[in-house]
Amino acid sequence: MRDDVQRITMGHGDMTGEYVLGPLAGLELRKFAVHGAPVWLVDQTVADLHPNLLENLQAGSGYAPDPDRLLTIDGGESAKTPARLAQVWEWLARTELPRDGLLVGVGGGTVLDLAGFAAATWRRGVNFVAFPTTLLAMVDAAIGGKTAVNAADLKNPVGAFHPALAVLADCAFLGSLPRRHWRAGLAEMIKTAVIGEPHLYADLWDHRDNLDRLLRNGDRDQVVPAITAALPWHDWISRAARTKADVVAADPREQGQRRALNLGHTLGHVLEAWTAATDEPLDHGQAVSIGMAVVFRIAAERGGCSLPVALQVLELLEHCGLPICCTAPPRERMERLLAADKKGTAASGLRWVLPERIGCVQISARVTVDEILKWLD
Ligand code: NAD
Repeated sequence: MRDDVQRITMGHGDMTGEYVLGPLAGLELRKFAVHGAPVWLVDQTVADLHPNLLENLQAGSGYAPDPDRLLTIDGGESAKTPARLAQVWEWLARTELPRDGLLVGVGGGTVLDLAGFAAATWRRGVNFVAFPTTLLAMVDAAIGGKTAVNAADLKNPVGAFHPALAVLADCAFLGSLPRRHWRAGLAEMIKTAVIGEPHLYADLWDHRDNLDRLLRNGDRDQVVPAITAALPWHDWISRAARTKADVVAADPREQGQRRALNLGHTLGHVLEAWTAATDEPLDHGQAVSIGMAVVFRIAAERGGCSLPVALQVLELLEHCGLPICCTAPPRERMERLLAADKKGTAASGLRWVLPERIGCVQISARVTVDEILKWLD
């Protein structure tokens, strides 16, 4: 794995943040901890698996570690609840974090979404720095300023735009990641490559045999031996992060082009919600993968995207151990879940992202339920 430091500018309206990727990224923290010691909200698993890396990150702030200023919470969707948020507010009150203080989040997308929203709401907004520790968080969740918790049985309905001053990423955390989280991160990485980074897409395709060997089979809950050294993650993460940062900078509040990042997500959210209560719930990455596969099939059938390109994307997803099809929800259930999608508006209906070619998507397409059902079992 190459270890040169990559720096990416993250524009968000009139704010600018910095994404730093590299083994010494943590040392950048002292630039942002200028009004006293930061407080730390840390994924419990990361704290357990990487005590030394965490200690280094804390040292990077320039302040001695203080157990009262560090709160660990379990990662996963259970982190993104109003109850957990209230617990974080109680803790922030005990730390007496002032308005110009700094909250640092360390973890996957769930802990960062919670930490970011806590930072957005505490004293009407304190500074936030994110240390993503999953592939998905490094290429997607930590970038773009969206923060949220789940509520009322919906995913992310309560949230705020609160961009991080900095995202500091170190691939050393990734070695402990279970297989299913590599797959989930790759689903988002492939999505980003498809919407705007043809070179990254070509590189992923060129490495398909290695991806296949490491990810297609094997226990989803086990770590993947030697995966960090076997593939150019540092390069891939920096390309995907740069692409997402550029898309966000062009449309921070998702009024136009940023919607491209929802490729595969409209159907993905439906499938994730529908399977949640079944014996075989799809995780987010799997659902997005099926969502992408279906929109590629629809686009190819309409003639908006070439069939060989669509089939190649499906093949790449499968090489990464990601599904491309599942049982369809009953039609009425699908219609209800689509209607509940937060990105639809009464005035404009639900807008779908449809691929045209690698590096180019249409962001306001209409898709019928019949078209979707045709490509599910
Ligand atoms: P996650 O945060 O649940 O992390 C996955 C699991 O890995 C958790 O159990 C966590 O404890 C563990 N973990 C974290 N780092 C680890 C490491 N280095 N080694 C071993 N285990 C580790 O899931 P995720 O996939 O990182 O994030 C998914 C969340 O991100 C979803 O809630 C989604 O809504 C959100 N998201 C947000 C945005 C955004 O723009 N804000 C974008 C995409 C996704």
